[in-house]
Order: sequence, then structure tokens, then C-alpha cells
Amino acid sequence: MFSSLSDRLSATFKGLRGKGRLSEADVDATVREIRRALLDADVALPVVRQFAASVRERALSAEVSGALNPAQQVVKIVHEELVGVLGGQTRRLRFAKNPPTVIMLAGLQGAGKTTLAGKLGRWLREQGHAPLLVAADLQRPNAVTQLQVVGERAGVAVFAPEPGNGVGDPVDVARRGVAAARERQHDVVVVDTAGRLGVDAEMMQQAADIRAATEPDEVLFVVDAMIGQDAVVTAQAFLDGVDLTGVVLSKLDGDARGGAALSVASVTGRPVMFASTGEGLGDFEVFHPDRMASRILD
Ligand code: GDP
Repeated sequence: MFSSLSDRLSATFKGLRGKGRLSEADVDATVREIRRALLDADVALPVVRQFAASVRERALSAEVSGALNPAQQVVKIVHEELVGVLGGQTRRLRFAKNPPTVIMLAGLQGAGKTTLAGKLGRWLREQGHAPLLVAADLQRPNAVTQLQVVGERAGVAVFAPEPGNGVGDPVDVARRGVAAARERQHDVVVVDTAGRLGVDAEMMQQAADIRAATEPDEVLFVVDAMIGQDAVVTAQAFLDGVDLTGVVLSKLDGDARGGAALSVASVTGRPVMFASTGEGLGDFEVFHPDRMASRILD
């Protein structure tokens, strides 16, 4: 996804090779290139500004006498800044002292929440947990069935509202799902919630009500990396509306520019914790900011 950003940055660094020291003009030219590369990759403007200012300041004050030549020094600084933008250190899931641990998924319709619930469920099972997936998305007609199918494929139990009871109340389903997990000895609950095509007051209220009813240990914002700048706007709306503890980037296998998704952690102050990289259950990884930064700067 980030190949064009990668290429642009490495071309910039190439221009610095062989330089014994960097003048202020060299640093400014380099920072300008980095700034353009980030903007062209769709990274949000405030993030780019902060990034460029920080790289400039650090490059100008970098020790000249270190083991690294100036070009390597700039690469190192950009790497560290990228890691910071992506949330710093790898952030592991927080498990509750008294199980079950509740993980709530939030995000727009089509972001990849239901798919992620299956992936997360399978991954948790592989880690020795006994997860329960709760189908609290009653908005999309097929969402409950889709979660049941995904759960079956992942070998993970699913709590769904009983058929024939009308549409039902998603907050009630979520609450009962957590209670069922407690009774049935599941130690982790993943609550799938409804999204809409755009940010919507009713959806946000429902998500906030589900949060209040289930008291989640983690509220993960699932964002489609393909949606461009809307990723940042939507993330901010969910941060304000339900509060979030972490971010999941989905569809990182796509060929969009992806920089907006890279900005979400920085804009919300919540770390990226997982990445979804395809439609299959195994297309899922724990997100490591330093590895992603290395991949971009490779
Ligand atoms: P939800 O509305 O948030 O529950 O979204 P879904 O889980 O139903 O996903 C919407 C669509 O995106 C489905 O067709 C998924 O198969 C697809 N999808 C989900 N995650 C990924 C991913 O990481 N990569 C790709 N390529 N497609 C994905």
C-alpha cells in the first residue's frame, strides 16, 4: 500500500548520500521533499506539518560526529518520527483482571468490523483464549448471519439475538452477550456493532449506549485504509462520540495511498493495534509501529 511513499522517501534520502555534512539549505530541501511525499500519500495536513517541523529541528541539531553519516542520520530521524506517528511502541491488548475482557468494535459500515471479529476471534483462540463473538450489529440485514458464518469458520462461538423476535435492541443483545460469556466461561468477548455509511448521530448514540452497557476494556476503531481523508474525520467523530482505546487499519492490502490511515493514530492519540490485510481469516496481524516504519523506509 505504501510503495509510492516508500519510493519517494528513498529517492529523497539518495540525494543526501555522500554528503559530509548537511547545510541548513540541504535540510530544508530534504524536509520539503519529505513533506511533499507525505502530502501526496494523503497523510493529514496537521500530521505532515508536525512531522516536517520535528524532522527539520532534529536534523539541524543532530550530532555530526556520530557513527552515522548525515544521510543515515536523517533516515533514522524520519524512522523515529514515523514510529511516533503510528503510536509509538507496540500496544498489546489489555485484558481485564476479572474476565471476561470486553472488546468493542466500532466504525463505519463496510469498514471491516465483522470480518475483523472473526480474525480477532481466531487469533485469540490460537493464543489460548476462549472468545465469544457478539452480534450487536442489527442494522445491516445480513450482519448477524455473516458473523455466524465467520465465527464458524474461525471455530469461535457466536452469541446472536434469537430469530423471530423482531429487529431487537442492539444494546440489550450486547449486554446479554457479555452476561452469556460470563456464564459460559468465555474469557474474551468481541462485540460487533452497527455502522452507517457516514457518521450519523443515531449510530453514534447506539455505539455510546453499547459502550456504557458493556464497559469494554478496549474500544477499537476499525478504519478502511482505502477511504482517504475521510478516515481522519471519521476517527475524530468516533473519538468524540464513543471514545476509543485503539485503532485497527483494515484493507491494508489495497492499492490506495493509505497515508490518511497512517494519520489516524496521530490525530486521535490512540495507537494502531492491529492490521487487516485481506478477506481471509489469516489476513491479520498485530501492528508494530517500528516494523511498519521500517517497511515504509525499506
Ligand atoms: P463491516 O460493515 O464493518 O462489518 O464490514 P465487513 O466486515 O462486512 O467488511 C466489508 C467488506 O470488506 C467485505 O466484503 C469484506 O470481505 C471486506 N474486507 C474486510 N476486511 C478486509 C481487508 O482487510 N482487505 C480486503 N481486501 N477486504 C476486506
